Amino acid sequence: MIIRWVCEKCSKKWIYPVEKCVYCKGSITKQKGAKIKVVGITKVTIPSPMHPIIPYNILLLQDEFGNRVPRKTMKEYKIGDEFVLQKAKTKDAVAVVRTKYDIYEAIKEATGLLNGVELNADDKILIKPSIIAAAYPYQAVNTNPDFLNALLAVLFELGIKKENVIVAEQALIGSDVADAASKSGILEVCKKNGVEFADISKGPFEEVESDGFKFRIFKEVMNRKVINAPIMKTNFQLGISGALENLSRLADEKTQRGMYFDGIEKTLPKLAKAVPDVFTIADATNGMQGQGPLALGEPAFLNLVLASSNAAALDSVFCGITMLEIPSGSLIKGIDIKNVEVVGNELDALKYPIKAANPHDTAHPDIKVIDGKACPACLNMMYGLTSKLVGLRGNEINLVMGPMLTEDMLKGKERIVVLGDCAIKKMDEFSIKSAAKISEGIDEVEQLVLLKKLLTTEGQPKITPVDKVKSKMKNLLSKVMK
Ligand SMILES: [Zn+2]
Repeated sequence: MIIRWVCEKCSKKWIYPVEKCVYCKGSITKQKGAKIKVVGITKVTIPSPMHPIIPYNILLLQDEFGNRVPRKTMKEYKIGDEFVLQKAKTKDAVAVVRTKYDIYEAIKEATGLLNGVELNADDKILIKPSIIAAAYPYQAVNTNPDFLNALLAVLFELGIKKENVIVAEQALIGSDVADAASKSGILEVCKKNGVEFADISKGPFEEVESDGFKFRIFKEVMNRKVINAPIMKTNFQLGISGALENLSRLADEKTQRGMYFDGIEKTLPKLAKAVPDVFTIADATNGMQGQGPLALGEPAFLNLVLASSNAAALDSVFCGITMLEIPSGSLIKGIDIKNVEVVGNELDALKYPIKAANPHDTAHPDIKVIDGKACPACLNMMYGLTSKLVGLRGNEINLVMGPMLTEDMLKGKERIVVLGDCAIKKMDEFSIKSAAKISEGIDEVEQLVLLKKLLTTEGQPKITPVDKVKSKMKNLLSKVMK
C-alpha cells in the first residue's frame, strides 16, 4: 500500500502525516493506493552495510493516484508488472511490514496478511506489552506508547469496546510496574483511550498444568483473547527478548523463579502452550540492539511491525532479519527458519545486521557477569548494583548468577562474586572458591558496600560489624532525607 496525506482543497501532498494544509489550512485526508504497478527497476550488485545480500532490485512502484515509492526485492520483475502482496498460506506464518509514519496502517496490513487471525466486535481482549523497567520511550526498553496507541485504534475500528480491553503487565521482579508504565508513556495512552491498566503481579492467578510443569497464570488470560505486544530487543542472557520472553510475565513471581530454575528454554514453550488464545503483534518500530534487555541497550531504528500466531516463529524471523546468531540453549533453537513462511516482505530483502549483546558486559567496566540463566529478580539486582557503582574503578570482579552454572563456565575466572541464592546453592557443588557471596536477603546498601570493597581491595574482603553499622546509618539517613 502507498500512503499520502492530501489537502482536500488544494490537493497538495505529503509523505508524512500533517494535521492541516500549511498552504491553505484545508483539511487533510489519507490517500491509500492499492492498485500498484512496477514503473522502474534498478539492479544493485554492490553490497552496503544496510544491504549486505546482493544482487537485489529496487523497484519503483506507482499506485492509481500516481504516487510512487521505492521497494527492495530479491525477485525479478518487469516494467508494467502488477505488484501484489501474497497472503499467508500456513497458520504459523510471520508477517513483516515496514512502517515509518503510520504504525496503525502497518498493524492493519500485518494482521490482514495472516491466515486465521480473527478479531470480532464482541471479543474480550488482553494486551500484553513489555514494560519491564522505568525508562523513556526513546530508550526502547519497553513497548512504544505510539505502537500501543495504534494497536488500540485498530481494535476500536473493528468495533471492539474499550471496556472489553485491558492492558496488563508486571515489571521485572523487584521493580514497580506503575513507575515503569508511567515513565514509558504506556499509562498515558491507556488513560487517553479509556482502557484499564492491570498490574499482573497483584493477581488473581489460576493454576494450569502443561507438560508436567505447574504454572500460576494471570486469571484474566483464560477468559480473553491475548494480544502479545512485545518490543523486540537484544538480550545478553537469551540472545533476544521478544514474543516468547514477554509471555513469561503472564505468570506469578514464584512461577517465574521456578521457570528459570528448571531452565527457561524448556519451561517457556510449555507456558506458551498453556495460554489458550495468543496472537503476537510485535513492536519493532524502534526495537533495541546492543546490550539489552535493559537501558544499556541502544535503539535499533528498525521501522518494522511483525505479526504471527506462533511466538517462536516470530522470534526466529526477527533473528533472521537482524542477523543475530541464535545462541545455544536459546528459546527458539528448535525452529528452522527455512520452514517458516514470511509474508509482507522477503526475509533476504530485510536482512541487515544489528549489534548483538555481549554475554559478559555489565553497566560497570570492571564488573563482568557470568550468567547461568538467572531469573528476572537476580537480573534486576545485578543491573541495579552494577549501575550504582559506575565511576568507581578498581580490580576486575566476575559476578556469577543463575542456576544453570557449570564448572566450565567458571574455569580460569578469578575474584568470583556469587550473586543470588540459586547461584550460591549451585556454587556449593563446585570445587571452585569464590571471593564473596551476596544473598538476596541482605540489604542493598550492604550489597553495595561489599562490592565497593571488592572493587577497591585485593584478596578476600568481608562485611565487618563497622560496615554494617555504617550501612544501617546510611539507610536511616536516606529514609530521613526522603
Ligand atoms: Zn491546501
